[in-house]
Amino acid sequence: MVPECPAPLQAVDLPLLSQRGVALSLKREDLRFPQLSGNKYRKLKYNLEAARNQGFKTLLTFGGAFSNHLHATAAAGRQFGFATVGIVRGEELARSPLNPTLADARANGMQLVFLSREQYRMKDDPAFLQELQHRYGPAYVLPEGGTNALAVKGCGEILGEADQGFDLVCCPVGTGGTLAGLAQSARGRQRVQGYPALRAPGLETALKGWIPGPGWELVPGYHFGGYGKVTRELIEFMLAFREKTGIPLDPVYTGKMVFGILEEVRLGCFPEGMRILAIHTGGLQGIRGMNMRLQKKGLPLL
Ligand SMILES: *Cc1c(COP(=O)(O)O)cnc(C)c1O
Repeated sequence: MVPECPAPLQAVDLPLLSQRGVALSLKREDLRFPQLSGNKYRKLKYNLEAARNQGFKTLLTFGGAFSNHLHATAAAGRQFGFATVGIVRGEELARSPLNPTLADARANGMQLVFLSREQYRMKDDPAFLQELQHRYGPAYVLPEGGTNALAVKGCGEILGEADQGFDLVCCPVGTGGTLAGLAQSARGRQRVQGYPALRAPGLETALKGWIPGPGWELVPGYHFGGYGKVTRELIEFMLAFREKTGIPLDPVYTGKMVFGILEEVRLGCFPEGMRILAIHTGGLQGIRGMNMRLQKKGLPLL
């Protein structure tokens, strides 16, 4: 499908890290498939294969107004020859100009269907899915966020041979599909830490149900108020990080994770000599939409 080359590793050079004797590298999944937003292509890969094998010509999926998953599904559909239907949360969105995420999705050929929040809430209801199939299908259905068993399998390919020397692998967490894939493919003593991008008290228990075995944990406390929420502190951190390292982060996932990792380094949570690998899962396409919101709030732009 796409040439399989490993994502480049980039060492992060900051005085804080050398003071604490901790090494941090970012795995730039965002550079591998810029149009497909890092981990979202990983999650789609085996689903695209299954859709093709099952004879589907259309992919149908769900997402919010700034969804990386909708954006990536539209790009993948275009690249691999599927029609795409995006069910979007919020009927009010149909009445104003499309934001950059949805405009890209439409430019890649995605049919956008705007639903009220009430209707959207039925997205996993079998009868409702049947109705969508009837109206827009036959379609291969991907859940919101793109996480299913095949997505976890795809995320199991993020770590490669070259990553075995790291003691700890960190990733942001939305649905937990990426974390699950990493936890399954971590080697030996390697531990995996997930940084939730949302306020989710029950997340750990829910994830325990389907990420078997020990070796992984969640680090809550760096969600900055919830999913898609940002503060001046987070934005200023991201700007400073980009200036010092040249690495752009996204405001919904990777910005919060890297903030969390460096805060833990500052607090002395990691022993000297620790080698950390953080997965840059992409999401940079969302910066344009976030900047529209930052401007309204009078915050600095990314
Ligand atoms: C979707 C997404 C995540 C979260 O992945 P999950 O598998 O849902 O936990 C992390 N980072 C980026 C950039 C994403 O788009």
